Amino acid sequence: MKKKILKAAFLLMIAACAACAFPMAVSASSADNANPEAERASLRYSYENIPNEETGRLKFITDGDKETFYKAARDIHLKFTASVPVKSLYFMFEKPCKWKLTLPDGTVKQGGENEFMHEYFSLESEVTEFEIDIPQDSWLTDVFAFSDGALPDWVQIWQPPCERADLLVLPTHADDEYAWFGGALPYYAGELGYNVQVVYLTNHFNNTIRNHELLNALWYVGVRNYPLITDRFLDTMDTREDAESVFGRENVLEFQVEILRRFAPRVILAHDINGEYGHAAHILNASTLLDALEIYENPEIYPESAKKYGIYKIQKCYLHLWPKNTIVVPWGTMFLSKFGGKSSLKVAIKGLAFHKSQEQYGIVARDWGKKDCRKFGLAYTTVGPDTNGLNDLFEHVDFNDSIEIPPEPSEPVSVVSQTDVSSQSITPENVKKQPRIPVWVIILAVILVLVNATALIFAGSLKKQDVKQG
Ligand SMILES: [Zn+2]
Repeated sequence: MKKKILKAAFLLMIAACAACAFPMAVSASSADNANPEAERASLRYSYENIPNEETGRLKFITDGDKETFYKAARDIHLKFTASVPVKSLYFMFEKPCKWKLTLPDGTVKQGGENEFMHEYFSLESEVTEFEIDIPQDSWLTDVFAFSDGALPDWVQIWQPPCERADLLVLPTHADDEYAWFGGALPYYAGELGYNVQVVYLTNHFNNTIRNHELLNALWYVGVRNYPLITDRFLDTMDTREDAESVFGRENVLEFQVEILRRFAPRVILAHDINGEYGHAAHILNASTLLDALEIYENPEIYPESAKKYGIYKIQKCYLHLWPKNTIVVPWGTMFLSKFGGKSSLKVAIKGLAFHKSQEQYGIVARDWGKKDCRKFGLAYTTVGPDTNGLNDLFEHVDFNDSIEIPPEPSEPVSVVSQTDVSSQSITPENVKKQPRIPVWVIILAVILVLVNATALIFAGSLKKQDVKQG
């Protein structure tokens, strides 16, 4: 009898627990379905201290057109009023700058951290007013405000650049990442969710529409870590023929050693040593990279970046069209569930199409011919050669590798924070590459353990009572 009661109680508890666990998933998905689209608020703005002749272009910041922008001739303070209560804000700039967002409760948020040009803020509570301070010489493209709800997919919520990159992709210009590296970004970032860091050698701050094209395309193909675009090497026409004397070979080498240390990539994907179509900046980018790989492990060379970031051993570097240890990655037949079954090549071609300003130059992502975007060669490896025919950029790659030379602490740190740093630098990476167990399975397992324990205790106490009664 008591056994039956126990069994019934046990089953009831399981049912109750399952009812607790499963509705989370169900209600989340039904909430998604029910989640109405966020409304884009119309915005009115007011300002002080801007001379009349400078206010004409202000209208462009609310026109939603990325080709028009307001260039601040001085430090500017703007106050916005939204037509409906808003829960999120989205700002677009033509080039990076540091700026400030102030909310009605006095909260101040820093904008332009990590050089973000497209920046999203989710607000704790709804507001109908907000203020911004943008510095002199900043170029503000657009301000968007949304009510609570599902955001349009073009709103970009960037993560900071990678702490450690599984894959480092090194285009010279915006659009090279699709034309020469094919489906690498859609596949590794978009489909597999690897930590993928894109670092552009040059910037397009002289042709700012390209910055929007660059970010919109990366977002579309599934990159989530913000790309590195520095102000060191401006893209100009001269660099097509002679990048070495324009940029300085030593400057490029130092930059590359720094990014190898900063992003500590496991695998690198970079340009053809012959510059695909002979572009001198592509050639420089590839040839200094090979030099950088020879020296980046020596902390005495460019010691500042070694002290700051420490040094991990890089496992592989592929160059486009490199003639030795070759692979052909079949982007055209690698179909991606995250993109409705499109091939990674097709997604890359769509990514390239965001670069409308470059259409005139006829750059395309082709899986045939002399510039085939599927063809790479292993130009550097510390994990041995690839297996012939496997065509896997990550073959032999160890995801549990640890740091060779740790960074030097910038100031004396307590024992506690040292522990924090080391656990941060190893644990999340290792965890990420383990097979993933759905959260609900973990919750259910914990509940079952608890239920079993409760049942055992319950049974134990009944037994005790039996003994006492007996
Ligand atoms: Zn290029």
